[in-house]
Amino acid sequence: MKLPNSVISFSETALHPRAQSIPFNRPCMQWAEIANIFCALQMGKLAGGGAFSRRCEAMLAERVAAPKVLLTSSCTDALEMASLLMDIQPGDEVIMPSFTFVSTANAFCLRGARPVFADIREEDLNLDASTLEKYITPRTKGIVPVHYGGQACDMDSIMQTARAHSLWVVEDAAQALFSTYKGKPLGSFGDVGCFSFHETKTIMCGEGGAIAINSKNLIQRSEIIHEKGTNRSQFFRGEVDKYTWVDMGSSYLPSDMTAAFLYGQLTSGSDIIAKRRRIHEIYEQGLQTLEDAGKLRIFHVRPECGINYHLYYILTQDTAIQQDLLAYLKQRHITAVTHYVPLHTSPYAQKHGYTAHLPVTEDIAKRLIRLPFYNDLGIYEQEYIIHCIHNYFK
Ligand SMILES: *Cc1c(COP(=O)(O)O)cnc(C)c1O
Repeated sequence: MKLPNSVISFSETALHPRAQSIPFNRPCMQWAEIANIFCALQMGKLAGGGAFSRRCEAMLAERVAAPKVLLTSSCTDALEMASLLMDIQPGDEVIMPSFTFVSTANAFCLRGARPVFADIREEDLNLDASTLEKYITPRTKGIVPVHYGGQACDMDSIMQTARAHSLWVVEDAAQALFSTYKGKPLGSFGDVGCFSFHETKTIMCGEGGAIAINSKNLIQRSEIIHEKGTNRSQFFRGEVDKYTWVDMGSSYLPSDMTAAFLYGQLTSGSDIIAKRRRIHEIYEQGLQTLEDAGKLRIFHVRPECGINYHLYYILTQDTAIQQDLLAYLKQRHITAVTHYVPLHTSPYAQKHGYTAHLPVTEDIAKRLIRLPFYNDLGIYEQEYIIHCIHNYFK
C-alpha cells in the first residue's frame, strides 16, 4: 500500500540510515509504542483519562511509591498544577535554584509569586541545602528542589528545613523518573513531585508529564484541577450524580494516544535504563584519565543516589575552554551543548529587579558541557567522541 504524501512512514523515520553527524539527542523507540497507539485507535477512546492513561498512572504510582499519579501534557503543566495546589498567592516567595529550566519558575510567577533563587553546590549542581535558611522570609511558602541530571538533591536536609519552617516542597523531578535517594524514589519526598516525558528525557512520549501527589489531603483537589476545575473524576467513579464546576482548574490531560506511546516506553523502562547506564559507564571510563590529569571534571554520582542516566556532563576549567571545546567537537560533527542560562541573569529576571550574585551557578554555567546521550548512541560513535575530547587536550 502506498502511503499518502502527508504521512511519513515509520521505516523512513526510524530506519533512516545514520546521518554523518552525531546529534546531541535522538528520540529512540521500539515497536511497543507504535503497537500501543494502534491499540488505542482501535479502542476508539482518544481523549485523556483513557485505558492507557490509567495504566501509565498506575504503573507510575507503583514505581514512584506515590498514592496518586496523574498524567499531564508536560512537566510544565505538572508544575503549574503544583502551584495551584499549593494555593500560591501574589507576593508569595518560592525558593528554587537559578540553575534550572524556565518552567520551574514560571509555574509560580504565573500565580504572582516571586521566585527566590538559591545557589547550587559544585559537587552535584543541586541546591546547596546548607544555605537555604538564609533565603527564608515571612513570605516564603515553599521550596522547589530540582534533581539535576537525575541525581537527587540532599533531600534529608531540604525536608528538615521545610518542616522546621512549615513550608511545602514541590520536587521538580523532570529529569529524575526512576532515580532514588537512599533507596527511595525521587518525586516521592515532597508534597508533590513533577516529571517530564519530553523527547529529551530518559522515558519520553514527545511531550508529556506527570504529577505525583504524596500528601493524601491533596488528592481530591488535584483530580479537580486536572479536569478543568470539575468533579468529573468523582462522577466517573459514581461518587456524584453529575459533574460541574467546583474549583479553578485547566485542561492538563494528555490524549490517550500519547499515553499509549508512553506506556510502551514505561514497559521497556528497565531496558532503556540499562542502555543508558552503559553509555554513562563508557564515558566515565573513557574520560577518567582526563579528570586525573586535571583537565576536566566528570559527572560523579554520590553514594546515596541512584540515577536514571538522564544526561552526561563534564566541567571544563574555564569558559574559554568550554567554548573552544564545543567548537572543536562541532567541527568534528559532534553536537555537544551547554545547559541553562542561570535564571537570575536572564532578561526576564533583569527586568524584575534581580541583582543578587550566585557565584557557583554563574561559574558552572560557563564551564558545563553536555555530551551526546541517547539510547541508541553506538559504541563506535561514543569512542569517537571520547577520542576527540582526548585529542583536544593533547
Ligand atoms: C525538562 C524540564 C522541565 C520541563 O519539562 P516539559 O515536560 O518540557 O514541560 C522542567 N524542569 C526541568 C528541570 C526540566 O529538565
